Amino acid sequence: MKLPTRSKSYMIPEYSLTGDLLSYITCGLQYRYQNKGTLPPSKPVQRWFGEFIHGVMEEAYLDWKYQKKEFPWDWKEDIRPIEDQIDLRLQVRGLYPYDEDLFFSINQPGSNLTLDDLNEHDHKKLASARAEKAINFWGKDLFPLIDSSELLIKGVRPMPNYDKNTSRSNYYGINGVVDVLTSTKINRIHDQSNLYDYDNKIVNFIRQHMEESDDEDYEIIIDYKGMKRPPLEVSDPHSEDKWENHKQQILTYSWLRSKQEDSKANCAGIILYLNELVPSKEDLVLIKEEILNDMTDIPEEDEFSDDIELILEWQEDDKMPNLSDEFKTARSIRFIKINDEEREKALKKFDRVVSDIESSLVKEMKGCKIQDAWKAEADKRTCSACDFRTFCKNNSDITKDFKIP
Ligand code: SF4
Repeated sequence: MKLPTRSKSYMIPEYSLTGDLLSYITCGLQYRYQNKGTLPPSKPVQRWFGEFIHGVMEEAYLDWKYQKKEFPWDWKEDIRPIEDQIDLRLQVRGLYPYDEDLFFSINQPGSNLTLDDLNEHDHKKLASARAEKAINFWGKDLFPLIDSSELLIKGVRPMPNYDKNTSRSNYYGINGVVDVLTSTKINRIHDQSNLYDYDNKIVNFIRQHMEESDDEDYEIIIDYKGMKRPPLEVSDPHSEDKWENHKQQILTYSWLRSKQEDSKANCAGIILYLNELVPSKEDLVLIKEEILNDMTDIPEEDEFSDDIELILEWQEDDKMPNLSDEFKTARSIRFIKINDEEREKALKKFDRVVSDIESSLVKEMKGCKIQDAWKAEADKRTCSACDFRTFCKNNSDITKDFKIP
């Protein structure tokens, strides 16, 4: 008697929105070495700060929820212990900050440092300065609105360009983690006498962007970004278009969320660019360049003339200018409108990226060399911080310090 054989295990490849999509878009080859080859970057500072600020905001929200601490929070007493905890968690995963980005000694016996010891304008202990501002500036308005935080959402889509002889699977999975989800009736937000009886910057911002007449229940997806507001367009064709990609990310989250049973029919998105609260020197150089070249949406014409003047007069050796809170708020928050057409475009883009990754994987499985199987294209800034730049044939940061073999 012939015994039946067990069918081959059926596995659907999983793709994460940030870990795969955004990472692959930055550079395919770097993504291959870091994600598929599980080689962590040697000095992943950008990644460290992104994960640090997300962790700090999440822990701060839990502290606020369970301990009902009043704002403003004291940095040394309330915020520094959270920073320590998140820093240790990241160290376990091999992620470390630059020494000048985070205090190590604040909680040591005998240490008497305070927030005043931070010289944020000179780019010292920048991560701490940003954490403190993010909590006291946005946290106090954001935390009361939160329904859920760090919400994992998943969905399945047909594999693009599926071929039963070569494709790994006929479906692929998308997953993402929504930083914050809040739901509200817009007409309740429009009603000045409602429960939001204080001047909440986020509520005011939603009011400005929603229709007065809209009385439907809305969900707002909120995402934190540990970076400055991106320019509207990129000058280098190899650079990642962060402005567009962040929008696609929110649109894809909204699609994933719509697949969940308890989701609401209407959805909008908000992105908080947290570095705008305490910009570094490098950030300000870019902001100045973007204002001069008309590449940013904030400030709009005739807006924030004092802040613009300060920025345009500022030189790299000067002290950082004292920008207004209104200017920082406007640059730090971005509204994303969600509709079916835009959402479909974002999903098609995700499909295209998955198709590219899958085809590179299949090429490699068939014996093609890694550097030939994966697209290597990035801007000079990404290449100069890339661990693989010494042997990558497409490195765009060719300096005299090293030669590509
Ligand atoms: S050096 Fe540049 S092109 Fe090469 S892998 Fe690194 S980021 Fe990509």
